[in-house]
Amino acid sequence: MTAPGPARVPILMYHEIAPPTQTHSRLAVSPENFAAQLGYLRGAGFTTLTAAELSARLTTRGRPLPDRPIVLTFDDGYADFHSRAMPVLAQHGFTATLFVTTGWEQDADMRRSAPGRMLNRSQLAEVAASGIELGAHTRSHPQLDQLPELLVRDELCGSKRWLEDEIGWAVPGLAYPFGYSSALVRRVARDVGYRYAHAVDNRTTGADADLFRQPRLTIRRATTLPEFRRLADGEATLRLREDRALTRAWSVVRQVKAACC
Ligand SMILES: [Zn+2]
Repeated sequence: MTAPGPARVPILMYHEIAPPTQTHSRLAVSPENFAAQLGYLRGAGFTTLTAAELSARLTTRGRPLPDRPIVLTFDDGYADFHSRAMPVLAQHGFTATLFVTTGWEQDADMRRSAPGRMLNRSQLAEVAASGIELGAHTRSHPQLDQLPELLVRDELCGSKRWLEDEIGWAVPGLAYPFGYSSALVRRVARDVGYRYAHAVDNRTTGADADLFRQPRLTIRRATTLPEFRRLADGEATLRLREDRALTRAWSVVRQVKAACC
């Protein structure tokens, strides 16, 4: 075991687990690639933590990190998490965190605007019962940094409350849609009771990171296994450096835009 502090922890961000014949999304990872990626993590001796466990361990209150810690996160709440991701996670004894856009869930009011087939309430209950952490990803997946405070509160409170009512225990985690946040959004997130929040930013995290701006590494359809290994092993790749530069440039544009609205 290593003490918290110097360790760098990769937090991976997945979306759909689906073949190209079923979705055009460039963020969808094929089932074969997903299986190979998790097989690599198992063989290389990684230990998965939920996002909530990591955020607790990155503070002085937390227990030490394992030798090769990694966090697997899945955004939006696609139904294929239940049918394709969960069995592979279970096969390797891995845990994960699923960030759910609660308005898109199959039985919810905004399901028609969902980007694909989403989880239903009984599947969500099964996911939670299996030990996988459920986190919030807002109600309607807006660009939070462009909303007035009242609507930010509505999105962050509404999704948290909905999930807590469904699963019966506290939901400490949030992932910002598109990774977009602002000082106001982060303040509201703290105010309404979240303990941590995830952005994107394509870098590893550590004890020095802001718990309300945890960076994540994007896994996409085009991510090759050698590239995946470098991400998990904490090595920046050319694509990552390009992503990070774009994220920063776009962040400046968004701050100016938000200030004008
Ligand atoms: Zn999303």
